[in-house]
Amino acid sequence: MNIVSLNKIEKHYQGVHALKGVNLELQQGKILGLFGHNGAGKTTTIKLILGLIKASSGEVRIFGKDPTSFRSRELRQQIGFLQENVSFYDHLTGFEVLHYFARLKKSDKKQCHQLLDQVGLNHAAKRRVKTYSKGMRQRLGLAQALLGKPKLLLLDEPTVGLDPIATQDFYKRIEQLKQQGCTIILCSHVLPGVEKYIDSAVIMGEGHLLAEGNLDDLRQKAELPVRLQLQGDIALPDNLAEKAYWNEQGLTLKVAMKEKMAVLRQVLSLPNLTNVDQYLPTLEDLYNHFSASTPAPRENS
Ligand code: ATP
Repeated sequence: MNIVSLNKIEKHYQGVHALKGVNLELQQGKILGLFGHNGAGKTTTIKLILGLIKASSGEVRIFGKDPTSFRSRELRQQIGFLQENVSFYDHLTGFEVLHYFARLKKSDKKQCHQLLDQVGLNHAAKRRVKTYSKGMRQRLGLAQALLGKPKLLLLDEPTVGLDPIATQDFYKRIEQLKQQGCTIILCSHVLPGVEKYIDSAVIMGEGHLLAEGNLDDLRQKAELPVRLQLQGDIALPDNLAEKAYWNEQGLTLKVAMKEKMAVLRQVLSLPNLTNVDQYLPTLEDLYNHFSASTPAPRENS
């Protein structure tokens, strides 16, 4: 079942054409990474999914329903949202903040202690938020997003301010939620951090959806080369020498994806080869590739 479905979405703000023909479908239990430069249209997409704004044209469906309809309250109870640069009422304690949001969302208040425990904030539950560090505020934001056991979770820059251990804990939690059937959208500019956790990626630019798919699909579409890093006292035959260059790690071959297996077989038969490492294009490589293809702005956009 599609949890999120955007069909031919156009969004105009006054004088700004923010989304241009965006189509997107996300199935239950999947984690989608939403990427793009500043102003690409990510937040606008999230606001449409949350039902905070209406599309100028096109159709938005969340759990098969219009999130802006008057009956969308129930829908929103199934959605968790962590916005970028989260801020809270500084004079309330962490527990009071969470309790307040639980009341707003009509979710079980007993969950508050459990959630504070999960994000590692139980020890500071009775402290005012103004005494919290940036990372602690972010953890409180995560706890707030998880109130009511959401079926759809939208997280904008969720790991900003978290230390490396807290970041790992966060992603472990995300994986658990996925196992429980939760559908998740992650927006982040920290591409290496999210790469191994997402099922698919959407790359946006200038309001367009530039590319979409899992990393393998995107690698096929981008046709970026694979790097093979060779070690040993090797003499390369001419057909491999023309693909080779030296870098700080040693001798490297840049090989088209479709030639990879043939080249690997040839490399493995070379005398004196002691090691081969393979480097596939990363999410960052793919992002750079597709972002470079951003369509030129139109005069009326
Ligand atoms: P960032 O990574 O900086 O958060 P983003 O990809 O989330 O960027 P959006 O916030 O969706 O981008 O903005 C898309 C475009 O729409 C930008 O040109 C932005 O200036 C414009 N925009 C967003 N909100 C409004 C608004 N309320 N009124 C006018 N223009 C807006």
